[in-house]
Order: sequence, then structure tokens, then C-alpha cells
Amino acid sequence: MIDLRSDTVTKPTEAMRAAMVRAEVGDDVYGEDPVVAELEERVAGLFGKEAALFTPTGSMANVLAVRTLVEPGQEVLCESAAHIARAELGAHGALSGITMRTWYDPRGQVDLPTIAAMFAPDLGPFFVRTTAIAVENTHNFAGGAVLPIEDLEALRGFADAQSTPGAKVGIHLDGARIWNAHVATGTPLSQYGAVADVLAVCLSKGLGAPVGSLVVGSAEAIAESRVRRKRLGGGMRQVGILAAAGLYALDHHLERLAEDHAHARLLAEACGVDPVTVPTNIVVAPREDAAGFVAAAREQGVLIGAVGAKAVRLVTHLDVSKADAERAAAVLARL
Ligand SMILES: *Cc1c(COP(=O)(O)O)cnc(C)c1O
Repeated sequence: MIDLRSDTVTKPTEAMRAAMVRAEVGDDVYGEDPVVAELEERVAGLFGKEAALFTPTGSMANVLAVRTLVEPGQEVLCESAAHIARAELGAHGALSGITMRTWYDPRGQVDLPTIAAMFAPDLGPFFVRTTAIAVENTHNFAGGAVLPIEDLEALRGFADAQSTPGAKVGIHLDGARIWNAHVATGTPLSQYGAVADVLAVCLSKGLGAPVGSLVVGSAEAIAESRVRRKRLGGGMRQVGILAAAGLYALDHHLERLAEDHAHARLLAEACGVDPVTVPTNIVVAPREDAAGFVAAAREQGVLIGAVGAKAVRLVTHLDVSKADAERAAAVLARL
């Protein structure tokens, strides 16, 4: 079976497992795990931030990150298909008391005029106040779309212009796949870091680690998030075993994402999708009968996912070789 359902399905390589076995560990709730400390420091440095916090999932990282910017009873603006709005089961409302309003862009992009029109400063005891804007790069449900750095910088300018000394407007960047955006565009990770107050990044997607994400931000935001992580039950003990996989992934699996992007373009072509519209590792292809197409592909040894009734999604990753991609492309083209 060639599994193109998601880039979360990768299994740790032998070399990654060896790095995990060797990891020197300690109780991270006591702040005594050296590998976790190394990973947090390294990732903070990559984004030009003061600190980072290891979390079990990207969803937890998003919940913690957004909460550093938004108090209960305030709102965050985001795109309507954002992971924080669609795929976290209402966590930001249920756990943080935060509401959301969304703008719609079919490619998941920043729509600054709409954001500016939606933005609600402190209007007194009448309206919900906007205290943060969240963006997702790459945008998962928009087919791995990249948000151009110029647009993010313009959004930063907007947020700064709205901020007052007592009421800052923050930007959260859901960077579950920021690595793919970085490799696809060559934009330095630190430049993405500079446009956001806080980021969430995943090691368990394209980088191929089995588990793990990080919140990245100021020392103050991370100290707060450390307390809230424990409150959510996310204080982990000898978790350097997992952090070691993350460090290994950063050393060995970052630049190779370019291969995943090339494989995705190959698959796009096979599915009749213009490869120019596939900047990273996700292909969304319209199909009249998505469920039927998924079932037929499965019969031919290719696992793909449906997004709604009329589109299918293919995701390339570490465990899909060039030969796998070519074989899957042949199968899909035939179907
Ligand atoms: C996968 C993903 C997350 C986090 O997912 P977890 O499964 O909770 O690790 C967050 N944002 C985006 C855009 C994602 O694709």
C-alpha cells in the first residue's frame, strides 16, 4: 500500500529510532530533561524567538499559543478553513473561552481588506474585542498553500498600527507545516518568526517525527504556556526520547521536503491538477464521486483521503519514495 492520506502516517526510521534510544533523559516537569531543553532552545533560535515549549500535539500548541494573545471573552480572527477553527473540536472556545470570527479565502490567504473591516478594537462594554489574528502557513485545507511573506509582513504592519500601549493586537502563526513553506520559498524561518508574536510548529508532519510540536515565542509567553500545558495534563516526564526524534528530524529531514514537493507535483499532473497550483506536499483534486475514487484507488494499492463529497486529498511524505510516487501516479492517472 502507498499511503497518501496524510504526512502524519510516517514511521520513525531506523536512524531516528537509534537517536531516540540513545537520548539522555530526565524529568521534564522538573526541567531536568536535557534533550527537551536542547530542542526547545534550537527551535526558538530557528525562529529568532526567546523560548519554545515542547507539546504532545500541534493542537495543544495552538491552544496554548492563541491563549497567550487572547483572554477569555475576546476573539481571534482566522480564515474559515483554519485548523484552529475546523479541526480542534472547539478547543479555543471550550478550554480558553475565546470566540472566533472568520474570513473566507479559497486558497487560505490573508485578505487584509476583509480583516481590516472585521477588526474590532475595544468598543467598550458592547462588542467582543479582537486581540489576535491567526494565520496558517502552509494552509492545510487549502491544499498546502503558501502564504507569501509580503502578505504576512503587511498583516504585521496592520496589527502593529492597531496596537496601543495597553492593548496589543497579536499575530499567531499556525506553522504545523512552516517547514514546507520555508523549503518551497527559501524564506528564512526567522523571517516567519518576525511576523508572528507566537507560533505553533509540528515535528510530526513532514519532518517525520512520531510525536511532538512546539509553541515558540517570548520568554513570558512560554512561561505562561508551561503552566497552562501542565493544567491541560500536558506535563511530560522523560520525554527526551521524543525530543531526540525531533532533533534528528531537524538535522536530517528538513531539506528533503523538496522531494515531497516534487512528488506532489507528479501526482497532481496524474490527477489533472495544474502542478503550478501545488506549491508543497498536498494535492487537492476535484472528483465527481470522491468516495468512489478513494475506494477504487485503495483497490489498486493507493490510499488517499476524501475532503467532502467532491474532492480527494493526496499528501506526500518521508515514507513515499520517488518510485512509490511514480507508481501511485500511474494508478491515479489510469483511474
Ligand atoms: C496537523 C495540524 C495541526 C496539529 O495537529 P495535531 O494532530 O494536533 O498534532 C495544527 N495545524 C495544522 C494546520 C495542521 O495541519
